[in-house]
Amino acid sequence: MKKLFGTSGIRGIFNRDITLGLAHEVGLALGTILNERSNVVVGRDVRTSSIAIENAVTSGLESTGVSVFHAGLVPTPVLAYSARFLKASTGAMITASHNPPEYNGIKLWNSDTSAYTSAQEKEIEKIISSEKFRRASWADIGHSNEVGVIESYISKILGAVNIKNNYRIVLDCGGGAASVVSPKLLRNFSIKLHEIFCIPDGTFSGRPSEPKKENLSVLSRTVKSKNASIGFAHDGDADRISVVDETGNFVSGDNLLALLAAYELKHKKGKVVVPVDASKAVEDAVKLNGGELVQTKVGDVHVAEELKKCNGIFGGEACGAFIFPGETLCPDGILSSIKLIELLEKEDKKISELVKFVPPYCTLRKTIKCTDRKKTMQKISKKIKALRGVEKIISIDGIKAEFSDSWVLARASGTEPIIRITAEAKNMKDAKELLRKI
Ligand code: MG
Repeated sequence: MKKLFGTSGIRGIFNRDITLGLAHEVGLALGTILNERSNVVVGRDVRTSSIAIENAVTSGLESTGVSVFHAGLVPTPVLAYSARFLKASTGAMITASHNPPEYNGIKLWNSDTSAYTSAQEKEIEKIISSEKFRRASWADIGHSNEVGVIESYISKILGAVNIKNNYRIVLDCGGGAASVVSPKLLRNFSIKLHEIFCIPDGTFSGRPSEPKKENLSVLSRTVKSKNASIGFAHDGDADRISVVDETGNFVSGDNLLALLAAYELKHKKGKVVVPVDASKAVEDAVKLNGGELVQTKVGDVHVAEELKKCNGIFGGEACGAFIFPGETLCPDGILSSIKLIELLEKEDKKISELVKFVPPYCTLRKTIKCTDRKKTMQKISKKIKALRGVEKIISIDGIKAEFSDSWVLARASGTEPIIRITAEAKNMKDAKELLRKI
């Protein structure tokens, strides 16, 4: 059986890995699993190949008897939310998230806004391998219906927040799908909004789609020149957010995780879910605010699964994928921007001042090349367990040793012959020392 799904749906270069034939088969397989009278809501990001893939998935679905709601150009969190709102059996999003424009992919969502689990994805792979597709008779094929979901999403968010301040904000959608939602949403408040790269652009000609520090120089400069309070940037499908403070400095994802976790805990006590590689600053913030930290495997899908299982109140990853399960189980960069504005207003402090409250840690990362990942991991594992002063060993994903104010983690890559070591401590010297010991 050929493996098609990776850590975040099916993804690859268009017409090489992701062909229209494959997209059609995904539609056929998904339709075969679902009841023939069900509906699937299909949405797409801005990429030049997205409409073609959407058409191929749709033709597959309809020929099995399943009908399609076309949400059009939407961010991933809006599509996931619409699956619930429209009572669709599944949401299918055509996107390659933050990848370069030649990439594309398909990601599937359940009607409760959670991503398809690996077991559900395997079922689709099995049907594609066996080619046992259900073909409806001509009288029973599915139909296409256009649906507008953006207004419903905006009104839902507006109902969940309360912002009065007239902050000056710079928004950088990177030419991605946030362009069709975020400016519209933010204009509902008395905010003074400056938009950059907020026109859908399937080639991401303004800046690379990944909102990492080195890609956000225009945002940094604009925040400073406009004297803005904060700057937001999204990736291509807007499930992620990056932030620059009022001085134009990039705010690390770990700091955002810690700030948002503390903020959510002020309203409701409960569990906060993060992957094993999140900074200890998040744990400190959670404990300080009366919450409980739960660690999972690396990947926002695992964070969402755990949030659902343990009924957590907030979770996320340092890449800027934050999940507010009270609203949705899909990481939502747009909702995160609204939460951060709310946080600024409630705390009545500048974002750079708030970041200063987050306990500082130094994090070091190293990659080790090896020929035999299993053997090397066994060796490293032994070393980690033998370290002096270990308080807790966690083996959810790789192996992690926790000390009173530091930790070290070793994880084998799933795709390459490498092992990634992360060490974090209160100062650079201790972090270096931990790394050296391994
Ligand atoms: Mg994304």
